[in-house]
Amino acid sequence: MSQVQILPPAFTEIGCFNGWLKATIGWSILLLGCTSMRIIAMADTHTLHRRVVVPDGDVLVFAGDMGGYGEIQELVAFNKWLGTLPHKHKIVIAGNHDWCFAKQRKPSEEILTNATYLQDSAVTIDDVSFYGSPWQPEFCDWAFMLPRSSEQLNLCWSKIPTGIDVLITHTAPHGILDVARGHHVGCEILRVALKRIRPKIHIFGHLHSSYGRDEIDGITLMNVSVCNEEYEIVNKPQEITYNATA
Ligand SMILES: [Zn+2]
Repeated sequence: MSQVQILPPAFTEIGCFNGWLKATIGWSILLLGCTSMRIIAMADTHTLHRRVVVPDGDVLVFAGDMGGYGEIQELVAFNKWLGTLPHKHKIVIAGNHDWCFAKQRKPSEEILTNATYLQDSAVTIDDVSFYGSPWQPEFCDWAFMLPRSSEQLNLCWSKIPTGIDVLITHTAPHGILDVARGHHVGCEILRVALKRIRPKIHIFGHLHSSYGRDEIDGITLMNVSVCNEEYEIVNKPQEITYNATA
Protein backbone atom coordinates (compact mmCIF):
# COMPACT_ATOMS: atom_id res chain seq x y z
CA MET A 1 0.00 0.00 0.00
CA SER A 2 1.43 3.33 -0.98
CA GLN A 3 1.73 5.93 1.68
CA VAL A 4 1.55 9.63 1.03
CA GLN A 5 3.89 11.57 3.20
CA ILE A 6 3.34 15.26 3.62
CA LEU A 7 6.63 16.97 4.13
CA PRO A 8 7.19 20.35 5.64
CA PRO A 9 8.35 23.12 3.31
CA ALA A 10 12.04 23.04 2.48
CA PHE A 11 12.38 19.55 3.91
CA THR A 12 15.50 18.98 1.90
CA GLU A 13 17.25 21.89 3.54
CA ILE A 14 18.50 20.39 6.73
CA GLY A 15 18.58 23.73 8.57
CA CYS A 16 14.91 24.39 7.90
CA PHE A 17 13.99 20.83 8.84
CA ASN A 18 15.64 21.24 12.25
CA GLY A 19 13.72 24.47 12.76
CA TRP A 20 10.44 22.81 11.81
CA LEU A 21 11.15 19.88 14.17
CA LYS A 22 11.96 22.18 17.08
CA ALA A 23 8.80 24.21 16.46
CA THR A 24 6.65 21.06 16.28
CA ILE A 25 8.08 19.68 19.54
CA GLY A 26 7.70 23.08 21.17
CA TRP A 27 4.05 23.37 20.19
CA SER A 28 3.36 19.80 21.33
CA ILE A 29 4.81 20.48 24.79
CA LEU A 30 2.83 23.71 25.01
CA LEU A 31 -0.41 21.98 24.02
CA LEU A 32 0.16 19.07 26.41
CA GLY A 33 0.51 21.48 29.33
CA CYS A 34 -2.49 23.60 28.39
CA THR A 35 -6.18 23.22 29.22
CA SER A 36 -8.58 24.87 26.82
CA MET A 37 -12.02 24.96 28.40
CA ARG A 38 -15.20 26.30 26.87
CA ILE A 39 -17.37 27.78 29.62
CA ILE A 40 -21.04 28.63 29.11
CA ALA A 41 -22.40 30.98 31.78
CA MET A 42 -25.90 32.11 32.67
CA ALA A 43 -28.01 33.23 35.63
CA ASP A 44 -31.49 34.42 36.60
CA THR A 45 -33.79 32.13 34.66
CA HIS A 46 -36.41 32.37 37.45
CA THR A 47 -38.10 29.08 36.41
CA LEU A 48 -38.00 29.97 32.67
CA HIS A 49 -34.87 27.91 31.89
CA ARG A 50 -36.63 25.92 29.14
CA ARG A 51 -36.93 29.11 27.08
CA VAL A 52 -33.15 29.58 26.98
CA VAL A 53 -31.09 28.23 24.09
CA VAL A 54 -27.93 26.93 25.73
CA PRO A 55 -24.80 26.49 23.55
CA ASP A 56 -22.74 23.35 24.05
CA GLY A 57 -19.49 23.59 25.97
CA ASP A 58 -17.27 21.84 28.51
CA VAL A 59 -18.62 23.48 31.65
CA LEU A 60 -22.00 25.11 32.27
CA VAL A 61 -21.98 27.69 35.05
CA PHE A 62 -25.27 28.86 36.58
CA ALA A 63 -24.77 31.91 38.82
CA GLY A 64 -27.98 31.81 40.84
CA ASP A 65 -31.72 32.50 40.76
CA MET A 66 -33.07 29.41 39.09
CA GLY A 67 -36.29 29.85 41.08
CA GLY A 68 -39.10 32.30 41.64
CA TYR A 69 -39.72 31.68 45.33
CA GLY A 70 -37.14 28.98 45.82
CA GLU A 71 -39.59 26.12 46.33
CA ILE A 72 -38.41 22.54 46.18
CA GLN A 73 -40.62 21.80 43.14
CA GLU A 74 -38.82 24.58 41.23
CA LEU A 75 -35.51 22.96 42.03
CA VAL A 76 -36.76 19.55 40.94
CA ALA A 77 -37.81 21.02 37.55
CA PHE A 78 -34.48 22.88 37.21
CA ASN A 79 -32.50 19.72 37.93
CA LYS A 80 -34.53 17.77 35.38
CA TRP A 81 -33.80 20.43 32.75
CA LEU A 82 -30.07 20.37 33.62
CA GLY A 83 -30.14 16.64 32.94
CA THR A 84 -31.18 17.29 29.33
CA LEU A 85 -28.11 19.48 28.62
CA PRO A 86 -25.00 17.92 27.06
CA HIS A 87 -22.29 19.68 29.09
CA LYS A 88 -19.91 17.30 30.82
CA HIS A 89 -19.68 19.48 33.91
CA LYS A 90 -22.31 21.77 35.44
CA ILE A 91 -21.77 24.12 38.35
CA VAL A 92 -24.62 25.85 40.18
CA ILE A 93 -24.74 28.45 42.93
CA ALA A 94 -27.86 29.83 44.63
CA GLY A 95 -29.21 33.35 44.35
CA ASN A 96 -31.51 35.47 46.50
CA HIS A 97 -34.64 33.77 45.07
CA ASP A 98 -33.38 30.27 45.82
CA TRP A 99 -34.75 29.97 49.35
CA CYS A 100 -34.64 26.17 49.29
CA PHE A 101 -30.84 26.26 49.61
CA ALA A 102 -31.00 28.82 52.43
CA LYS A 103 -33.64 26.91 54.40
CA GLN A 104 -32.93 23.27 53.53
CA ARG A 105 -29.45 23.10 52.13
CA LYS A 106 -28.79 19.36 52.48
CA PRO A 107 -32.09 18.11 50.94
CA SER A 108 -31.72 20.69 48.17
CA GLU A 109 -28.19 19.56 47.35
CA GLU A 110 -29.46 15.99 47.22
CA ILE A 111 -32.11 17.00 44.67
CA LEU A 112 -29.53 18.77 42.49
CA THR A 113 -28.07 15.53 41.12
CA ASN A 114 -27.15 16.93 37.70
CA ALA A 115 -24.70 19.61 38.90
CA THR A 116 -22.02 20.42 41.43
CA TYR A 117 -23.44 22.87 43.97
CA LEU A 118 -21.01 25.44 45.36
CA GLN A 119 -21.73 27.46 48.47
CA ASP A 120 -18.59 29.12 49.82
CA SER A 121 -16.69 26.20 48.37
CA ALA A 122 -14.51 25.27 45.39
CA VAL A 123 -14.14 22.56 42.79
CA THR A 124 -11.34 21.88 40.31
CA ILE A 125 -12.17 20.58 36.84
CA ASP A 126 -9.31 19.68 34.47
CA ASP A 127 -6.88 21.89 36.41
CA VAL A 128 -9.24 24.89 36.38
CA SER A 129 -10.45 25.99 39.82
CA PHE A 130 -13.95 27.36 40.43
CA TYR A 131 -15.24 28.99 43.62
CA GLY A 132 -18.91 29.82 44.20
CA SER A 133 -20.77 31.96 46.74
CA PRO A 134 -24.43 33.13 46.87
CA TRP A 135 -24.12 36.12 49.25
CA GLN A 136 -25.12 39.70 48.41
CA PRO A 137 -25.56 43.06 50.15
CA GLU A 138 -28.99 43.35 51.76
CA PHE A 139 -31.93 44.43 49.59
CA CYS A 140 -35.40 43.85 51.07
CA ASP A 141 -35.92 40.42 52.58
CA TRP A 142 -34.40 37.76 50.39
CA ALA A 143 -32.19 34.70 50.79
CA PHE A 144 -28.40 34.92 51.27
CA MET A 145 -28.31 38.63 52.12
CA LEU A 146 -26.05 40.32 54.63
CA PRO A 147 -25.85 43.98 55.69
CA ARG A 148 -24.05 46.12 53.09
CA SER A 149 -20.39 46.78 53.89
CA SER A 150 -20.65 44.53 56.96
CA GLU A 151 -18.04 42.40 58.64
CA GLN A 152 -20.15 39.34 57.75
CA LEU A 153 -19.78 40.07 54.02
CA ASN A 154 -16.09 40.72 54.53
CA LEU A 155 -15.80 37.30 56.19
CA CYS A 156 -17.56 35.63 53.21
CA TRP A 157 -15.19 37.09 50.64
CA SER A 158 -12.12 36.55 52.83
CA LYS A 159 -12.71 32.77 52.52
CA ILE A 160 -12.11 32.87 48.75
CA PRO A 161 -8.61 31.57 48.00
CA THR A 162 -6.22 33.94 46.25
CA GLY A 163 -5.64 32.99 42.60
CA ILE A 164 -8.84 31.02 42.02
CA ASP A 165 -9.34 30.75 38.24
CA VAL A 166 -13.11 31.27 37.95
CA LEU A 167 -15.05 33.10 40.65
CA ILE A 168 -18.85 32.72 40.64
CA THR A 169 -20.99 34.98 42.82
CA HIS A 170 -24.61 35.99 42.58
CA THR A 171 -23.87 39.65 43.28
CA ALA A 172 -21.76 41.90 41.08
CA PRO A 173 -18.78 43.74 42.50
CA HIS A 174 -19.54 47.42 43.05
CA GLY A 175 -19.17 49.66 40.00
CA ILE A 176 -18.95 46.89 37.36
CA LEU A 177 -22.07 45.80 35.43
CA ASP A 178 -24.05 46.45 38.63
CA VAL A 179 -26.52 49.21 37.76
CA ALA A 180 -30.12 48.79 38.93
CA ARG A 181 -32.60 51.64 38.50
CA GLY A 182 -29.77 54.07 37.83
CA HIS A 183 -27.64 53.17 40.85
CA HIS A 184 -24.53 51.06 41.34
CA VAL A 185 -25.66 48.40 43.79
CA GLY A 186 -22.90 45.76 43.63
CA CYS A 187 -20.87 44.80 46.67
CA GLU A 188 -18.15 47.28 47.67
CA ILE A 189 -16.24 44.74 49.75
CA LEU A 190 -16.22 42.20 46.92
CA ARG A 191 -14.77 44.87 44.60
CA VAL A 192 -11.88 45.39 47.01
CA ALA A 193 -11.47 41.63 47.56
CA LEU A 194 -11.05 41.08 43.79
CA LYS A 195 -7.67 42.86 43.99
CA ARG A 196 -6.46 40.11 46.33
CA ILE A 197 -8.26 37.14 44.74
CA ARG A 198 -7.33 38.10 41.17
CA PRO A 199 -9.52 35.50 39.39
CA LYS A 200 -9.08 35.17 35.63
CA ILE A 201 -12.85 35.22 35.18
CA HIS A 202 -15.60 36.54 37.48
CA ILE A 203 -19.14 35.37 36.63
CA PHE A 204 -22.20 36.86 38.32
CA GLY A 205 -25.85 37.81 37.70
CA HIS A 206 -28.53 39.26 40.02
CA LEU A 207 -28.73 42.71 38.41
CA HIS A 208 -30.94 41.98 35.45
CA SER A 209 -30.45 45.24 33.55
CA SER A 210 -26.64 45.12 33.60
CA TYR A 211 -26.01 42.09 31.36
CA GLY A 212 -22.64 42.31 29.61
CA ARG A 213 -18.91 41.79 29.79
CA ASP A 214 -15.99 43.93 30.90
CA GLU A 215 -12.26 43.56 31.39
CA ILE A 216 -10.55 45.28 34.31
CA ASP A 217 -7.02 44.71 35.64
CA GLY A 218 -6.70 41.46 33.66
CA ILE A 219 -9.99 40.04 35.01
CA THR A 220 -12.83 39.23 32.62
CA LEU A 221 -16.08 40.16 34.38
CA MET A 222 -19.40 38.81 33.09
CA ASN A 223 -22.92 39.70 34.18
CA VAL A 224 -24.75 36.71 32.70
CA SER A 225 -28.32 37.50 33.76
CA VAL A 226 -30.54 36.22 30.95
CA CYS A 227 -33.72 38.04 31.97
CA ASN A 228 -34.79 41.65 32.23
CA GLU A 229 -36.41 43.57 35.08
CA GLU A 230 -39.80 42.20 33.97
CA TYR A 231 -38.49 38.64 34.35
CA GLU A 232 -38.63 37.96 30.59
CA ILE A 233 -35.82 35.98 28.94
CA VAL A 234 -34.06 38.54 26.72
CA ASN A 235 -30.34 37.65 26.82
CA LYS A 236 -28.24 34.71 25.67
CA PRO A 237 -25.93 32.65 27.88
CA GLN A 238 -22.37 33.96 27.52
CA GLU A 239 -19.50 31.87 26.18
CA ILE A 240 -15.84 32.15 27.06
CA THR A 241 -12.85 29.93 26.31
CA TYR A 242 -10.40 29.69 29.14
CA ASN A 243 -6.84 28.63 28.35
CA ALA A 244 -4.95 27.48 31.40
CA THR A 245 -1.29 26.54 31.39
CA ALA A 246 -0.67 23.72 33.84
ZN1 LIG B 1 -32.68 37.43 39.46
